[in-house]
Amino acid sequence: QTYQPNPKRYQNMIYRRCGNSGLKLSALSLGLWHNFGDVDSIENSRKLLRTAFDAGITHFDLANNYGPPPGSAEENFGKILKTDFHGLRDQMVISSKAGYYMWEGPYGDWGSKKYLISSLDQSLNRLGLDYVDIFYHHRPDPETPLEETMGALHQIVQQGKALYVGLSNYKKEEAAKAFKILKDLGTPCLIHQPKYSMFVRWVENGLMDLLGKEKVGCIPFSPLAQGMLTNKYLHGIPEDSRAAKSHGFLKTDQITEDNLSKIKSLNELAKEREQSLAQMALAWLLKDERVTSVLIGASKTSQLEDSIACLNNIQFTEEELVKIENILES
Ligand code: NDP
Repeated sequence: QTYQPNPKRYQNMIYRRCGNSGLKLSALSLGLWHNFGDVDSIENSRKLLRTAFDAGITHFDLANNYGPPPGSAEENFGKILKTDFHGLRDQMVISSKAGYYMWEGPYGDWGSKKYLISSLDQSLNRLGLDYVDIFYHHRPDPETPLEETMGALHQIVQQGKALYVGLSNYKKEEAAKAFKILKDLGTPCLIHQPKYSMFVRWVENGLMDLLGKEKVGCIPFSPLAQGMLTNKYLHGIPEDSRAAKSHGFLKTDQITEDNLSKIKSLNELAKEREQSLAQMALAWLLKDERVTSVLIGASKTSQLEDSIACLNNIQFTEEELVKIENILES
């Protein structure tokens, strides 16, 4: 039946300004890397999108290659936009990216202008949209001059195919150079999307300070380390989990004894805070005001509901923070 969005959806969500731009993002954003491909149930994908939107999540993150097969997440999202979200486009921030392998030959990967411009055209086609809100370069290209890649992002905005641009997986030095080029072109970088969680901390080594100084937003991806920072792997590998799926990017060998012992201790601490471990892991990222939004994934609506409730407590005492550090270093 026709989808009627929850009229109270904007009441409980927190919206944070992205760097020094005019754009605010919901403190949680939904990523479509897994669970939206042709291998997945479109009915479940639809439920996930409705649940997210009903809770005030306005930002949906895609990329050319999400699926599998690559491209199918954008296609499925495009279909659901048409059937369910008709008339709601202006209440949504939709992102896509290019930078990883998408098609054969020399023009379907990395960071040339040729690749980025054609890839975004393909994405818009699959999504059934005239423009995306944010277009990212998905990873740095060591061979293409940064001026060309940033020039392509600038051109895309000039053409009206994206409103803002972002970078993903750029290290501090590369990011600093790219920000300068973009600023000089008149298309400032809106946001940076790095992998960041309690288990993956490289951004603390300079990148976060750069983002704070340059007033570029930050949207950490895989904040739950693909599901490891939850209680789901404590008693083995559930059949319906990402680690058990052949097309999942989490491999069982990443769920080591060492990780499990940390997860167990973190889970105990989360209980003391009266939160689930997933909620504590998300709150731990949101305690940093430089983090605009945390980019979560979900295979079930119950997970989304659980994760969104992290917003009930994103404060930590000094003592809790020290305990977390001790667990992670143990
Ligand atoms: P997460 O670390 O949030 O992992 C999501 C997975 O964890 C879910 O699919 C589910 O896995 C499990 N999960 C989620 N919530 C809960 C919960 N409350 N309780 C128990 N289990 C839970 O993020 P992702 O790795 O999915 O990444 C999020 C998004 O980030 C992507 O969709 C994509 O948009 C973006 N991304 C960007 C990249 C880049 O290079 N820029 C790279 C990777 C991701 P299960 O299937 O086991 O149920």
